[in-house]
Amino acid sequence: MKESGRKHGALSPCAACKLLRRRCAEDCVFAPYFPPDEPHKFASVHKVFGASNVNKMLQELPEHQRRDAVSSMVYEANARVRDPVYGCVGAISSLQQQIHSLQTQLAAAQAEVVHMRMRQFSSSSNAGGAMDMAVDQANMGESLWSC
Ligand SMILES: [Zn+2]
Repeated sequence: MKESGRKHGALSPCAACKLLRRRCAEDCVFAPYFPPDEPHKFASVHKVFGASNVNKMLQELPEHQRRDAVSSMVYEANARVRDPVYGCVGAISSLQQQIHSLQTQLAAAQAEVVHMRMRQFSSSSNAGGAMDMAVDQANMGESLWSC
């Protein structure tokens, strides 16, 4: 991550001050996170959250957490712009559905493996090792269901 153009001082206001048409002060809370060469970042955050709310949220946070907060707000704002109804919840729930369907598939595949090992075990006379493996697979299936 590169730093903003603070060294140029008032000559290049940060993206926030530029959009809000105000003077970018030396201690501008937006300047470190909204450099003038990335105007779209502040534009979407301002559209979704409002500049004064973003200002308030940043003021309330210790400085070392502000960069993460800004990148989270930018992500959420962009998701909200793309999907005005669900925002990033849309992405989260579609990923949760994917996880659920993949877990179901995995459980079915593991059950099939256990089933095949059991059959192999019962059809072979000296299969001490196969029994251990079948138990291992069964345990893996168990732990999957519990999560
Ligand atoms: Zn500024």
